[in-house]
Amino acid sequence: MLKKLFQSFRPPVPGQHHVRTTPEVIHKSQHSLQRSQFSRHAVGIVERLQSAGYQAYLVGGCVRDLLLGITPKDFDVATSATPEQVRAEFRNARIIGRRFKLVHIQFGREIIEVATFRAPHSDEDQADSHRSSHNASGRILRDNVYGTLEEDAQRRDFTINALYYDPVNERILDYANGVHDIRNRLLRLIGDPTHRYQEDPVRMLRAVRFAAKLNFGIEKHTVAPIRELAPLLREIPPARLFEESLKLFLSGQGAMVFEMLVDLELFEPLFPASAQALEDRPSYTHTLISQALANTDLRVAQGKPVTPAFLYAALLWPALPARVLFLQNQGVPPIPAMNGAAHELIVEQCQRIAVPKRFTLPIREIWDMQERLPRRSGKRADQLLDNPRFRAGYDFLLLRESAGEQTDDLGQWWTDYQEAHDGTRREMIRELGGRSEDGAAPRKRKRSNSKRKQGDDEAFE
Ligand code: ATP
Ligand code: MG
Repeated sequence: MLKKLFQSFRPPVPGQHHVRTTPEVIHKSQHSLQRSQFSRHAVGIVERLQSAGYQAYLVGGCVRDLLLGITPKDFDVATSATPEQVRAEFRNARIIGRRFKLVHIQFGREIIEVATFRAPHSDEDQADSHRSSHNASGRILRDNVYGTLEEDAQRRDFTINALYYDPVNERILDYANGVHDIRNRLLRLIGDPTHRYQEDPVRMLRAVRFAAKLNFGIEKHTVAPIRELAPLLREIPPARLFEESLKLFLSGQGAMVFEMLVDLELFEPLFPASAQALEDRPSYTHTLISQALANTDLRVAQGKPVTPAFLYAALLWPALPARVLFLQNQGVPPIPAMNGAAHELIVEQCQRIAVPKRFTLPIREIWDMQERLPRRSGKRADQLLDNPRFRAGYDFLLLRESAGEQTDDLGQWWTDYQEAHDGTRREMIRELGGRSEDGAAPRKRKRSNSKRKQGDDEAFE
């Protein structure tokens, strides 16, 4: 499968891939797109801008996806009008962004993004840091240099993302042989790949995301520099990487994305601790993460909701044991060692990918559940069932078991317990009596009445 993805085809023109100055014009009769397939609001915006004397097109993911028979998730417009000029045309428009100024035009729940044509950065522009700036490794920090349509095509990432559709005359403008690459299902960066990744290392992640989502191969010059340049991802702001990580793992092809990230050495800069676990315990770590992603892909395919917290809990879980052990070897007791390790791991991960608090809290709760699920005696089992995190904790337990963790059939016990009637449940709890993992496990609690015997304290909790 991976082989197939990285397979390369001969480019239509030898040598580097450049944008031409006159586009190939693909007329209505030569392509499958129909105006009615596009959001009527987006088409309305294009018409309005054109009648105000500006150039305007539908561009990017929506043109690409419709040519491939996929329903686009949003519609982007590119125009010669500046953000201020766009805003002046529409009441429901607002300018957003600093690194990259855009206009959002809102129609109820639909937001259409309108971007002004951008030019690639020249040395002259770089002297003017208000409009354009780079860091030492060539990364673009600000990108508000406006340009022509041809220049806009040139600064886009992949050829298949540089197709412009004009809904008025129903023609496609193709500056970079994007239609050819769509036909051959090939992802190809525009321009010199090394340079384009240095400008924006996130393009390496976009290559993986599109290859997996569209089931495309990555052209050989486009894939070649990735392993060497992967460490550049360490310089990307962690908040941007969080957004990008969600797109990667919730694309519906998360399991494939994971394989490709590991293969292209992009996983390490994103998840350093998990990459270490992957090296230390390859089979277990790989199974646990792939299984979590395969389950997520299935849910996405069925249109069910997915939670980033569960996914992050799985991505990081294999990195926990080594840290717990390290703390225990320093004399920290098991429970504080577990809590300390969990806390440190999350803090460390957030330095690479800024996972927001609303997700890190549930990650901790899913992990805490793993310690509580074995303790079932007295009223504990029923209390756990009432816990709002029970379901996620139980699913996580099954995930661990599917990766080969030994839990003495705890998952099956909980499956049976949920299905059982009251009488059977009481019986199941009673049967736990003599077993070691029934709740009399070595958890030492702080309690005022420390004389209370282990055996009878369960009922009072
Ligand atoms: P999807 O919306 O399905 O994720 P998309 O191609 O529309 O895919 P967006 O992130 O919405 O992706 O970006 C819209 C367009 O902007 C892209 O098609 C591409 O032309 C351009 N673009 C986005 N990010 C970059 C980037 N990092 N470098 C160069 N061009 C980019
Ligand atoms: Mg898009």
